[in-house]
Amino acid sequence: MRKLRHRLCFTKVIQLLIMPPKLEPDRLAPEPLLFSRGLGLSFPTVGGSHSLFSISGPEHWHKDFPIAKGDRQSPVDINTSTAVHDPALKPLSLCYEQATSQRIVNNGHSFNVEFDSSQDKGVLEGGPLAGTYRLIQFHFHWGSSDGQGSEHTVDKKKYAAELHLVHWNTKYKDFGEAAQQPDGLAVLGVFLKIGNAQPGLQKIVDVLDSIKTKGKSVEFTGFDPRDLLPGSLDYWTYPGSLTTPPLLESVTWIVLREPISVSSGQMMKFRTLNFNKEGEPEHPMVDNWRPTQPLKNRQIRASFQ
Ligand SMILES: [Zn+2]
Repeated sequence: MRKLRHRLCFTKVIQLLIMPPKLEPDRLAPEPLLFSRGLGLSFPTVGGSHSLFSISGPEHWHKDFPIAKGDRQSPVDINTSTAVHDPALKPLSLCYEQATSQRIVNNGHSFNVEFDSSQDKGVLEGGPLAGTYRLIQFHFHWGSSDGQGSEHTVDKKKYAAELHLVHWNTKYKDFGEAAQQPDGLAVLGVFLKIGNAQPGLQKIVDVLDSIKTKGKSVEFTGFDPRDLLPGSLDYWTYPGSLTTPPLLESVTWIVLREPISVSSGQMMKFRTLNFNKEGEPEHPMVDNWRPTQPLKNRQIRASFQ
C-alpha cells in the first residue's frame, strides 16, 4: 500500500497549473561553460582511470576544475542549530508513480540507476523549487566502513551512505543544458544509517555482481524509487553544486532529515564493486564521497521547526 503523501502530487500539479509559482530571480550568475557539449550522464575523466576518489582525490579536483573552490560547493555540514526554519517552504511533491527505471551502470565512481526523462514521468516539484524537475538517475555514495560514507553531514555526523536522486529542470532542453544553470538541477539526498536491511534496496544489491567493474551495465526496469524514501519528507535545503567533477554550481539541494536504514551486509555488497575496469588491478569502490565544503555566504533552510 502506497503512502498517501505520494498521491498528493496530482493535486499539486493541478494547483501549479492554476497558480504558477513566481520564479525567484537567479541569485547567482550562470557558470562559465566548462564543457561545450552536454554533460549527459557521463563524467569527465580526471587524472587517468579510476582516480576520482583514489589516486588523485577530491583535494586535487580544483586544478582541473577551479570551481571546486567556488562559493556554492557541495556537500556541506548541516548545522542544525544555525539552519533556519522557513515557513514559506512548501511541502515536497514527489511524483514517482510513473517513473521508469531503465538501466543500472557502473560509471567508475558510483553506480547509476537511470530513468527515462524524455517525458514527465518521475517528477519533483514544490519544496523550494519553482517549476518541474524530472528524475534522470539516482546513485549512492558510501564508505570503506559503516562509520563514514555520506557526503552531507548533520552536526558533523557522517552516515554510512547517502542516496542522491538527480532531477533536471524542464524549463531547459535536457540535463546537459540544465546542469549549466543555477536553477538547473535538484538533488534529493537521503541518508542511510545502519540498522535493519532495507527491502527496497535488496533488488539493487542483488544486481551489483553483474556491474562489478567500470563501464558495465545491465537492464534494470521496474524499480520504484519510492521504496528508498523514509516516512517523513521533512528536509533541509540550500543552493549548491554537483559533488563530483565538473562540480557545477547548478544544484538546489534538498536533504531529508529522516534517514532510511540499511544493513551492514547490504553496505558490504556495495563495497564489492570496483572503481577499475575489468581486467585492471582491483580497486574496491569505497569512500566515493567528497568531504564537506565551506558554507560561505549561504543559509540552510529547514522545512520543519
Ligand atoms: Zn551524488
